[in-house]
Amino acid sequence: EGRSAEPIDEAELAIEGALRPGSLGEFIGQPKVRGQLQLLLDAARIQNRSPDHILLAGPPGLGKTTLAMIVAHESERPLRLSSGPAIQHAGDLAALLSSLVPGEVLFIDEIHRMARSAEEMLYLAMEDFRIDIMVGKGAGATSIPLDLAPFTLVGATTRSGLLPNPLRDRFGFTGHLEFYDDSDLEKVILRSSGMLGVSMPGDARAEIARRSRGTPRIANRLLRRVRDYALVHGEHGSASIAEVRAALELYDVDPIGLDRLDRAVLDTLVRRFRGGPVGLSTLAVAVGEEAETVESVVEPFLVRIGFLGRTPRGRVAMPEAYEHLGLQHPETAAL
Ligand code: ADP
Repeated sequence: EGRSAEPIDEAELAIEGALRPGSLGEFIGQPKVRGQLQLLLDAARIQNRSPDHILLAGPPGLGKTTLAMIVAHESERPLRLSSGPAIQHAGDLAALLSSLVPGEVLFIDEIHRMARSAEEMLYLAMEDFRIDIMVGKGAGATSIPLDLAPFTLVGATTRSGLLPNPLRDRFGFTGHLEFYDDSDLEKVILRSSGMLGVSMPGDARAEIARRSRGTPRIANRLLRRVRDYALVHGEHGSASIAEVRAALELYDVDPIGLDRLDRAVLDTLVRRFRGGPVGLSTLAVAVGEEAETVESVVEPFLVRIGFLGRTPRGRVAMPEAYEHLGLQHPETAAL
């Protein structure tokens, strides 16, 4: 789906994988969640049991998948990766759960998109490590109980509000990932640039950090574009701040990191809907995107920087958004 924040092809995905920190100690930022996970893992280790089920919530690219891998690695357990959209029937989940080896860590990305029927099966599985499999149809249908190997579920969601309460309640712990501040992003960039073999002065790293929307995945992605630019235009393997700016301009990343879709949403809200309030679905249709993408990928950062407000009557543009677009806010204009 062409969004510059998301990985677009296999090669990019492979690089993203290679840049993942492998332990909690290497994981940058998020001190709160890191501390919470550390305790959870330590307690499980002392009692020699599987760690509790973990739910990780937050916008895309903040490290949920990475943390799931770290949980498996640090507790020395195998990891199975799946996702909500891949579990469209209870049968899909039954097949997955019944094939887990004892202690395995099961990661379900976008768990809010799992089928309803599977959700109900998951409640029992999480609580009692047991499922009931329905066999046959109509009057002859029976359910066969099946014991499962104990496992640790790590669920990830961009929208914990969408999870039904019974599911949310069955996680021993929910970690809320926050956007990263610039100094943490600079550390991410320093680490990744070493791995990619690009050298950069501190001001160049800070410039990439400023334009990364608080998101390590975007920082790594922009870094790769800067590396490309430096390869073609720069001095051997090093990128200056001027090259960083030129590269990011080429890819439509503005000085505070907003990309085309972010700006389209703001522009539409301000010009076409006079700053709102306007409903999410109307806004999404007007920019030609899915409502879910606008809500979980675009809006959280715009809210966090104070450009967009979510009100019961709809989305509204804040004065800072007008300023960024070079326009006058109607209320201040009226004064
Ligand atoms: P999510 O699952 O939340 O969408 P990922 O775990 O896939 O995000 O992370 C996206 C990319 O960002 C990965 O390549 C990973 O290397 C990098 N990343 C995420 N969080 C961190 C972090 N705290 N420190 C270093 N790199 C990180």
